[in-house]
Amino acid sequence: MVFLPSTASATSAVDVGLKRSHVDYSRYLSAEARSRLPNPIKSIWKVAQVKPGTINMGNGDPHHTLYPICEVNFVVPSIDEHDPVQSWRSGTGEQNIISSYKDEPCALSLRTAFAYGAGAGLKDVRDALADLNDRIHSPPNHTVSLSLGNADALTKCFRLLGDPGDSFLCEEFTFSAMTNAALPLGIEWVPIRMDNNGLVPSDLERILSNWDEAKQGKRPHVLYTIPCSQNPTGSTLSLERRQQIYQIAHDWDIIILEDDPYFFLQYDLGVSQSTIQQYGHTRAMAEVLPRSFLSMDYDGRVMRLDSFSKIVAPGMRLGWVTSNSYFADKLDMLTDSSSQHPHGMGQAFVAELLGSNGWGVDGFMKWILSLCNEYQRRRDLFMDVFRQKVATSGFATAEVPQSGMFVWIKINLEHHARFSASQTPTVPGGPTTNTADLMDELFRKLLNNGLVMMPASTFAIADRTGMMGSHINDRVNFFRATFVGTDETIRNGLATFGRTLEEFFL
Ligand code: PLP
Repeated sequence: MVFLPSTASATSAVDVGLKRSHVDYSRYLSAEARSRLPNPIKSIWKVAQVKPGTINMGNGDPHHTLYPICEVNFVVPSIDEHDPVQSWRSGTGEQNIISSYKDEPCALSLRTAFAYGAGAGLKDVRDALADLNDRIHSPPNHTVSLSLGNADALTKCFRLLGDPGDSFLCEEFTFSAMTNAALPLGIEWVPIRMDNNGLVPSDLERILSNWDEAKQGKRPHVLYTIPCSQNPTGSTLSLERRQQIYQIAHDWDIIILEDDPYFFLQYDLGVSQSTIQQYGHTRAMAEVLPRSFLSMDYDGRVMRLDSFSKIVAPGMRLGWVTSNSYFADKLDMLTDSSSQHPHGMGQAFVAELLGSNGWGVDGFMKWILSLCNEYQRRRDLFMDVFRQKVATSGFATAEVPQSGMFVWIKINLEHHARFSASQTPTVPGGPTTNTADLMDELFRKLLNNGLVMMPASTFAIADRTGMMGSHINDRVNFFRATFVGTDETIRNGLATFGRTLEEFFL
C-alpha cells in the first residue's frame, strides 16, 4: 500500500514551479490532439484583442447594434433568506431580479456575451470560477476553461488523451453514458475493483503493476474516476483513498480525470456556524467539503471536471474544466474548432449570479449549503422508508450515501429459491452464477409494476484483460435508485419496490 508522502503535500511553491515547468505534457496527448492546428481566425482574433483601439474588420461577427435583444432579466431567489432553498420551495421568500444589459453597466455586457468568443469561455466567468476553485481547492497553478457540462468536457478529454488501442482505467461500475463515448475512439476500459467505499487503491496498484505491455499493449495512462457520489454506487472516496490513488497515479504516471458533478452535494457536513459568521459560507464549506484530487495535484496530472447541472440545473449545459495550462490550451483548441465557446446566455447568467449584483460566490455557497440540507432531508426520508418498506424482508440492503443523488441497493439474491452459485461458465472466465438473469427478471417485474430503477448491469464494465479474477455479471445484484424526487415519489416508489421484491422472492 502506498501513501502520499507528507513532503508531497508540503512541496513549496518554488519546487512546484520548477517541477511543473519541466514536465512535458505532450507525451500524454492523442495523435488527434498532437496534429490539431489552432483555429487560425481565433488566433488572429486573440492577438487583435490585446491591443486597445484596434479596428477589427476581419471577423464575420454580426454587429451588436443588430442583436435583437438589449436586456435579459433573471428572477432568482433572494440569497438573504435564512434558508433560501426552503423559502424558494414554499414560495414565501423574496425574489431578486438580476439583469444583463447590452448597453448599460452590468457584470458581463450582452455585447460581449452574445458575440463570438474564445473556446475557453469569457474571462469574467472563468475568473469567477477560478476564484471559486481557489477558495475551495487551492489548486497549485491551474487554468479554468468552460465546458458545456461534464459530458462535453469528458468526451473532449477522451479525445485529448486517447488513441485507438489505448486502455483507460475506471471503476468497475461507472457512468456508462461516458465510458461508451470513448469506445468509438478505440479506447478500451480496464475496470478496477470497488467496495462499499469506492475504488480500491490496492486493486489499481495491482492492475498497473501486473500489466504486461508485451501482451496487453500500452499500460493505461488515464484513470477516469467519479470520487463523490460515484455514479452508480453513490460511494464517496475517503481522504486516505484519494491520497493513495493520487500517489499511485504519480508513481505510474497516470492522468486523473476527476469527474465530480456531485462534489457540492455533501451531507452531514457539520458546517461551523461561527466560521460562517466570521468568514462567510465559502470558507465554512471549504473546511468540510472533501479534498479533491485537484487540491493535491502538485504535478499537474489532474483534469477536474465541475458542472452546474446538479447545483443549478442540467439544462444550463455549463461546467468548467480545471487542468494544467498545457492541457487547457489543447482543450480550448478542440473547442475552438468544434462546439466553439459555451452559449452567451448561460455565461451572462453565471457572471451576474456570481457577480456583485447577484449572489456573489459566497451567496452561491450559501445556496449550495441550503440545497445540501434539502437533499439530505430527502436522503434521510428515502432511507427511513427503505428501512420500513424494503429492508425488513431481508431481500435488499443499502448503505447511507454521504453525497450526491444515488442509493446503491443490494439485492440479496442468495435468498432466492432459484439462485445458483455454481454454474459452469459457458465461456472461459464467464459468469458462474445466474445473477444477471435473475436481476433481469426482477427489473422487468418492477417495470410491470410501474417502477424504474437502474440495474447494475447498465453500468458494469466488462473485463477484457482477464485480470479481474471473476466475471462482473456475478456482481450485478444491485439497483441504482435516486432520492432526489418528491416525498411522494420516494414513498410510493419504495412501497412498490418492497412489494415487488416479496412477489419475486416468495
Ligand atoms: N458525469 C457523471 C458522473 C454524471 O453523473 C453526469 C450526469 O448525470 C455527467 C457526467 C454529465 O453531467 P453534465 O450534465 O454536466 O454533462
